[in-house]
Amino acid sequence: MSPRREILANSDSPVAEEAAEPRLDPGSFEDDRAFEVGIRPKRLADFVGQHSLREKLEIILEAARRRDQPVDHVLFAGPPGLGKTTLAGIMACEMGAGLRITSGPALVRSGDVAAILTDLQLGDVLFIDEIHRMGRAVEELLYPAMEDFQLDIVLGRGPTARSIRLDLPKFTLVGATTRTGLITGPLRDRFGIVARLELYSEAELEQIVRRTGVLFGVELTPGGASEIARRSRGTPRLAIRLLRRVRDFVEVRGEGVITEDAAREGLTVFGVDELGLDGLDLRILNILCDLAGRPVGLSTLAVSVGEEPETVEDVYEPFLLQAGLIMRTPRGRVAAPRAYEHLGLEIPAQSLSFVSAGDPDHLAAMSSRGRPRSGAVQDVLFAAASDEDGFPEEPGSGD
Ligand code: ADP
Repeated sequence: MSPRREILANSDSPVAEEAAEPRLDPGSFEDDRAFEVGIRPKRLADFVGQHSLREKLEIILEAARRRDQPVDHVLFAGPPGLGKTTLAGIMACEMGAGLRITSGPALVRSGDVAAILTDLQLGDVLFIDEIHRMGRAVEELLYPAMEDFQLDIVLGRGPTARSIRLDLPKFTLVGATTRTGLITGPLRDRFGIVARLELYSEAELEQIVRRTGVLFGVELTPGGASEIARRSRGTPRLAIRLLRRVRDFVEVRGEGVITEDAAREGLTVFGVDELGLDGLDLRILNILCDLAGRPVGLSTLAVSVGEEPETVEDVYEPFLLQAGLIMRTPRGRVAAPRAYEHLGLEIPAQSLSFVSAGDPDHLAAMSSRGRPRSGAVQDVLFAAASDEDGFPEEPGSGD
């Protein structure tokens, strides 16, 4: 097998934008990537949490090693920052193989993926992030490549066009997506393992914070590590990002040691609240609490907070749901009692039940109790509230 190589091919990760409010988007920014290179665990034994997934990977890696064959293709699903790229790197490292990294949006034409596939060496791991965003032609080219390690290339155009078939070295495709539902059936079927990564517990995040603290050479007390873990929304990337911010804080304003108090103070300065919620989370909660139990669909909610529906659903909702702050009902999202408590609001009697559509008393109550909001947000919410059935029809709004 090839010596270990790690190549970033056509990476298309989002670039951090200056945010007007503190944002804890766990999507990877350039800044994170630079730091992550040196701190990603390289062995399965160093990968914290995800026990059942780790066990499965241990077995398939050991079996592939014994047979001296590449590992079966694997699809990882889950919100950003949970370790999908890290696991692809671990698989390559454990197999002593090379790692190629690319992403779905960078693979538009079949030539994009053909160039990468023909450059692979025996046993290499090809990691495709956001695999659900690949072009259709690329996906179809991948089917025979994954199944038979063959690549069909069409040369020329029109009546003189001819197709040739190339043999590819056996490789392992590791795909990552935020949701398996976004992957077409034929592509999903070609993965030997489809695994979902779950949000991490506080204890697991604490372990990751302590491990990263050692790598950064920063002194952390147990209380400091647990304070950072508690506010990291179940996401290792955020835990590491918060650790970096608190490290800056203690170096400039403190004694250089991350204690519980220092972590709390530092995180408050950077606008991370007690539960690790950022500005957008709080806006989502404010809007849902203002609706006082009345469900709202995903796209209306997304427009109200000025985000893409996919971002709200894949990045923000998993933690808000896990933390028991919001609920998904068949008719849309509603605030859970804990959200009212967190915002210091009274829990409305009807918060758990649906309010009849277009109820004038309800609308009056909403308009009188709401905190100041931008006119645009008000308009969107009231437009939604006055729809014929009271709730805009949205695919997946309640799933
Ligand atoms: P994803 O590909 O799912 O967006 P990454 O694999 O890039 O997430 O992980 C983000 C960061 O979190 C990396 O720096 C990685 O080292 C760290 N990380 C993620 N999962 C773990 C884990 N289970 N144990 C230790 N560090 C982790």
